[in-house]
Amino acid sequence: MRATVLYGAGDVRIERVPDARLIEPTDALIAVTRACICGSDLWPYKLMKPGEPPRRMGHEAIGVVEAVGSGVRTLKAGDVVVMPFAYSDGTCAFCHEGLHTSCVHGGFFGTVELPGAQAEAVRIPLADGTLFVLPVGEDDALMASLLTLSDVMGTGHHAARTAKVGRGKTVAVVGDGAVGLCGVIAARRLGGERIIFLGRHPDRIALAKAFGATDVVSERGEAAVARVRELTGGFGVHSVLECVGTDQAMLTAIGIARPGGAVGRVGVPHYETIPASQPAFYNNLTISGGPAPVRAYIAELLPDVLDGRIEPGRVLDRVITLDQVPEGYRAMNEREAIKVMVKP
Ligand SMILES: [Zn+2]
Repeated sequence: MRATVLYGAGDVRIERVPDARLIEPTDALIAVTRACICGSDLWPYKLMKPGEPPRRMGHEAIGVVEAVGSGVRTLKAGDVVVMPFAYSDGTCAFCHEGLHTSCVHGGFFGTVELPGAQAEAVRIPLADGTLFVLPVGEDDALMASLLTLSDVMGTGHHAARTAKVGRGKTVAVVGDGAVGLCGVIAARRLGGERIIFLGRHPDRIALAKAFGATDVVSERGEAAVARVRELTGGFGVHSVLECVGTDQAMLTAIGIARPGGAVGRVGVPHYETIPASQPAFYNNLTISGGPAPVRAYIAELLPDVLDGRIEPGRVLDRVITLDQVPEGYRAMNEREAIKVMVKP
């Protein structure tokens, strides 16, 4: 089969690899019908060091179950399923607490350990706990939005949850990628009243407004902090969704949170220590967040997608074939595309 392999910074290739197959009795095999390139894929695409082992990329997919192991109980061939970016057993202490990304038997797709989904097929460990069966056909009109349930919509929702968004709250979203845009949807959905979107790209601003952003701040750094404070009577916002993962984004997030507020961070941090420790302390800020347990959120978000109340699939602004994946990485890295959908 064909799959995406990252060899080094800027060096991503489509190659013939051995067919994905069942290994454990708890595995399922899915034929990938839709996959994505993720903003987090761009980190190794930009920063992979010489000597690091090649990686089979991709952690977001919808597919059709082709085969299941003898120990799989809830899935059958032909089921249309969404694959969360992490696999999980669904039965351990953390899965029961809704924190599937900390599953004691879990792990992540698209890593050195487990081949990813930018491929024709993918092996799913712990398939009963991992996959979510969708009540639609494989070419449903809502497919783009359903696909976001494997990562970006669930991750935006997690940012909003951990930033304690609620009815009447003021919210700011740092990060204008697909996750930040889904964060706007989530903030509106959870009752955020005023939603300030930090971004400068006209297409992304337009989408953020369509998703419910009430204000846009295009300044950066200290100027952005000053502008958000100006918009909020000098106080800052209750909830900040930090959807980037740089120390600068975190510095901005802490700078615009009002006393007693919360920052939910979902961008993979590329810094060692959280900046602005003293302002965060003196303002009694909650700094929370982490890898989103998207498996736990699918059941909550799915009805809104099926009813058309939310349309997170609008972040997928380019569709490519598997052979075009290297071009897709380039387009996302150069910010020509917000998020790329792959149809193998
Ligand atoms: Zn678990």
